[in-house]
Amino acid sequence: MNNLVWFRNDLRSSDHPGLSAACESAQQNNGNVLGLYCLDPRHFARDQYGFRRTERFRAQFLLQTLSDLQRQLASLNIPLLIVHEHPEVAIPGVVNNYGISDIYLQQEWTRDEQRVRDSVMAAAGMTTVRAHAFYGQFLLHPEDLPFPPQQLPGVFTAFRKACEQQWNVRPPVPRPSPMPAPNWQPATQADCPLTLPTLTQLGLSECIPDTRSAFPFCGGGAAAQQRIQHYFWETENLARYKHTRDGLVGSDYSSKLSPWLANGSLSARQLYWQIKEFERDVKANEDTYWLVFELMWRDYFKYVSLKHGDRIFQLGGILEKDYPWQNDPDELARWINGDTQYDFVNANMHEIAATGWMSNRGRQNVASYFARERQQDWRIGAAYFESLLLDYDVHSNYGNWMYNSGVGNDPRDRRFDIERQASIYDKDRRYRDLWLASAAAP
Ligand SMILES: Cc1cc2nc3c(=O)[nH]c(=O)nc-3n(C[C@H](O)[C@H](O)[C@H](O)COP(=O)(O)OP(=O)(O)OC[C@H]3O[C@@H](n4cnc5c(N)ncnc54)[C@H](O)[C@@H]3O)c2cc1C
Repeated sequence: MNNLVWFRNDLRSSDHPGLSAACESAQQNNGNVLGLYCLDPRHFARDQYGFRRTERFRAQFLLQTLSDLQRQLASLNIPLLIVHEHPEVAIPGVVNNYGISDIYLQQEWTRDEQRVRDSVMAAAGMTTVRAHAFYGQFLLHPEDLPFPPQQLPGVFTAFRKACEQQWNVRPPVPRPSPMPAPNWQPATQADCPLTLPTLTQLGLSECIPDTRSAFPFCGGGAAAQQRIQHYFWETENLARYKHTRDGLVGSDYSSKLSPWLANGSLSARQLYWQIKEFERDVKANEDTYWLVFELMWRDYFKYVSLKHGDRIFQLGGILEKDYPWQNDPDELARWINGDTQYDFVNANMHEIAATGWMSNRGRQNVASYFARERQQDWRIGAAYFESLLLDYDVHSNYGNWMYNSGVGNDPRDRRFDIERQASIYDKDRRYRDLWLASAAAP
């Protein structure tokens, strides 16, 4: 029995149910375990609107994450093959070369991920391979919800209250013990390149660090733990989180954990149990609760996509609302270039273009401006975010875009008063001055 762990958005070695199951069954059967990550060329190609599906910020973060994962797996005697190839091409080859009988992977249900998995399993030579899929991305496992996912409430508060009444966050799955050495060694050097591709090789330009960035961090599980160490234990900022989370400048107004959560180098459960440790050893208050509350939003949007499938990508959204949407290239260019009548929108659009980051407050405002005020097809805004965001996650991105565009889960169907938002959240103009100063210079 030879097991392949096909990594996707689960780039870690602890609290990884698929990796643990693969190691356990291999150890019981004198088999081997091999890891694989495919840098799928489609992820770096242009989408229907002309945006690259993954721009340089997230691509660099991913490469850093992969090299960290390679180190983590090496300490378990498990090689990680990294190929720049379509999974449906790469995996049948690996299955054949290594005599793979079983594939372990994270369960994904959104359109593209599902299609790729179907193509892999339908490829020649795959008929005898068994696939084992696990939900590793949730805080609350689908089996522990108080209702079947198809009966998910249409409003977050109802979801949260029901879950809180029957609260059960599973403990993280322990990191597997190392495979007996020697486990597999890569068949050839080409199978397991020591150096990852560069951004240029992926067709992207280099990232130029911006000293103003609110997210100056690297990818990988080790960097995620350093961030937790700083935000929780060294500064105790967690104990002030609810009061600072609407900030705009600097790194410490919010946790900044979303990019690691999005690619799975940190799991929501690992984070939850570290919050509990902080509450036990330092302080438990409304602020510490609020970080869990936000993790529930993250779960909620995953359950929304699980329930509604492809409807999250449709113009009418899950509500099937029929607004007079427009698709004006000049409006889009003004929004992207930060050239609208609102300096608050402009500052935020400059920030995302320069760094791949934007605060939650900023995201809500620029989305509301684009979709509600200018009535532009919200999916184009969502695709632009998909391209640039360091923390892009299909569920959170499309779920929040639908919400802010009036076609999702907002029971109050709100539209932001942007001048008012700026006067509340950027009263002293510090944020706008930071991002607009250079643009205003001659
Ligand atoms: C239009 C729009 C698009 C968005 N796209 C994404 C996306 O692609 N990926 C993404 O992770 N988040 C997205 N968000 C949600 C939110 O803006 C980010 O999760 C948050 O800003 C990340 O910063 P943080 O880690 O410091 O968050 P914190 O405030 O520290 O929150 C902790 C964690 O809770 C989760 N969380 C917080 N707010 C939300 C929310 N509104 N929805 C879902 N999860 C949340 C995130 O995992 C976050 O890391 C989007 C929001 C909007 C309005």
